[in-house]
Amino acid sequence: MDKGGCLVVISGFSGVGKGTVVKRLVEKYGYVLSVSATTRSPRQGETDGKDYFFLKKEEFLDAVDKDGFIEYAMYVDNYYGTPRAFVEDRLAAGKRIILEIEVQGALAVKERYPEAALIFITTPSAAELKNRLAGRGTESEEVILARLDRAVTESEYIDNYDYIVCNESGQLEDCVDEIHHIIESGNRAVRSQAAFIRELKEQLAEFRK
Ligand code: 5GP
Repeated sequence: MDKGGCLVVISGFSGVGKGTVVKRLVEKYGYVLSVSATTRSPRQGETDGKDYFFLKKEEFLDAVDKDGFIEYAMYVDNYYGTPRAFVEDRLAAGKRIILEIEVQGALAVKERYPEAALIFITTPSAAELKNRLAGRGTESEEVILARLDRAVTESEYIDNYDYIVCNESGQLEDCVDEIHHIIESGNRAVRSQAAFIRELKEQLAEFRK
């Protein structure tokens, strides 16, 4: 990546607050957020071109055919993809780009850009994740259940990430600073969080019983 640009891939369970973390990384430390394309409908307050490029399924698949995404994936019945031109241009200009994407996309990015830093944001426990999802109040019960089920699947991918960071209630800035520190230090130290990951996976698996 020319001129010191870098790619930071942030994933995390739905409801973990990663959108807020990413927003603060942009405001506080000048990261550039890539705007994805999706076939899902806009939520209240979301703007086309700012939160997502909202595309019809045919438009999305047309862009796939034209190699318009560096990765794309299906998530809870909708497509999501990272526009290629934006990422390539900003990297060439030396920017630090954040992709806020789900696990399959993250792994695809790592294949294509091995120097990308993959960061997974989690809650301290599975129970807290469920509370936050229910408290958001923007999704139906059915969607909440689908997202919890998806979290169980996603937990299987956590080991592929370079870092796991906790977003504890009321500690947003700590989470933001920790991520920035990881990127700044370029630290590739092996995590010592295997026990935490194992416990979280066990708690999440309870949602499927
Ligand atoms: P939401 O519908 O809640 O905005 O996003 C659902 C999931 O899609 C989140 O996990 C989000 O990180 C992921 N996502 C958003 N944009 C992309 C993208 O461009 N590619 C992939 N693979 N996932 C994305």
